[in-house]
Amino acid sequence: MRFLPVFLDLQTGPVLVVGAGELVQAKLRLLAAAGARIRWFATDGHHDVGGWAGADAARIELGEGDPLTADLGGVVAILCAGAGEIGIAMAARARAAGLPVNVMDDLAHSTFIFPAIVDRGDVVVAVGTGGASPVVARRVRERIEAALPARIGDLAGFIGRWRKHFHGRIATMPQRRLFWERVVDGRIGALVLAGRTVEADAALQQIDDPAAFAAAQASGRVTLVGAGPGDPDLLTIKALRALQDADVVFYDELVSPEILDRARRDAARVPVGRRAGKPGIGQDAINRLMIEAAKSGQRAVRLKGGDPFVFGRGGEEVEALRAAGIAYTVVPGITAGLGAAAQFEVPLTFRHEALRITFLTAHKASDAETVDWSTLTDGKMTVVVYMGMTAAPSVRAGLLAAGRSPQTPVGVFARATLPDARAAVGTLDQLPALLDRIDRGPAILIIGDVVAHSAPWRDSKLAQLVSYFQDAAE
Ligand code: SAH
Repeated sequence: MRFLPVFLDLQTGPVLVVGAGELVQAKLRLLAAAGARIRWFATDGHHDVGGWAGADAARIELGEGDPLTADLGGVVAILCAGAGEIGIAMAARARAAGLPVNVMDDLAHSTFIFPAIVDRGDVVVAVGTGGASPVVARRVRERIEAALPARIGDLAGFIGRWRKHFHGRIATMPQRRLFWERVVDGRIGALVLAGRTVEADAALQQIDDPAAFAAAQASGRVTLVGAGPGDPDLLTIKALRALQDADVVFYDELVSPEILDRARRDAARVPVGRRAGKPGIGQDAINRLMIEAAKSGQRAVRLKGGDPFVFGRGGEEVEALRAAGIAYTVVPGITAGLGAAAQFEVPLTFRHEALRITFLTAHKASDAETVDWSTLTDGKMTVVVYMGMTAAPSVRAGLLAAGRSPQTPVGVFARATLPDARAAVGTLDQLPALLDRIDRGPAILIIGDVVAHSAPWRDSKLAQLVSYFQDAAE
């Protein structure tokens, strides 16, 4: 490591900037946004800060005369565009004055370099590659951006505000550390990250005995997480964070191993769904497991296929947790219907063709019998059917009897977003037969004119056209 990352206090004096052009403008913007006072010598004579926000522009004081002889009193650092001799000369002056200097794109004459920055208020992350590759630094920064909660800076600021108040009341350093760990990892930290600072302030204020709070067992909680339709890259950033924070993961049969792999390495993984024809442990037992885990202080994740609140019994689980007084949050996931639509290019709503969408479940034929099909005959409605493979004949019969056209386009989309995804398209009339072409589930049925825009539909029309011409040629 040649360059040690340190943080420069911008309150102590101006930063001297020498040069002109796009790169200098970008650095001026960065410095101004960071709150720096700037003394700028525009070497092309054009001090152009047009289009800048007022406060930022006001931080720039224009340097007069030759920067090589300008007064350096109080200056905290010097930044110079490297073109020509000026960079080398400025670097020599800065060194003589004992000031840090950066000559753009000239490592040899720089005594500091700019990192790629993740800026979340009080939390700032600097990424450097020793000047070797800004592109690599930016890629690293992107990863960090994605991994950090949006309000992590607020959390640091929140603790900063309360620090003194508690440190007088907690005797030892280790106890203080434990105290803040409890705050950050517990309900109060979660409130700040959710933007509910007023409640967080109130909760912190209510702690009468900070030492006892620090020594108490960590309180457990449950996060209901939507795992999406199968492709691990479709997990949300929040879902990923919950998985990486989990002590134990209770997962459904629909959750792919690739997704489970994203959980913290030493998290316990407990299957609770039906598997290979075997019945699951049942909803009551799942609820009990989650409650027990949270009560023993664990951070439990309940990982469910798609979205927890779309035909996933998430509602019942939340009710059980609430009744047991367990802290919980819900992280939405991409529901299978949306995953399938995106993959196979079914625009679920389409101007003038589909004005509404119905998500329907028809698990068993008996479910299908209780559906009021007459509400689903609107030709401008797209119907998305979950768990509809067994009941497909009843879905067809119900819709036809209610008056929906037998020519309505239909798609059966199996294992959507997974590597072995399959689609079969045709008309409502052909519905049950389409299922033979996808060999196994899970599958979503999408019914409506918009299916005619889908990729498999376009392919099938092309195939028909080709065979028509082949027949004609024979
Ligand atoms: N909560 C889930 C749905 C659970 S019900 C969600 O929001 O997606 C289970 C049904 O979801 C299956 O019967 C099937 O209809 C559908 N499903 C789940 N994953 C799927 C996938 N990868 N491809 C197609 N359908 C899927």
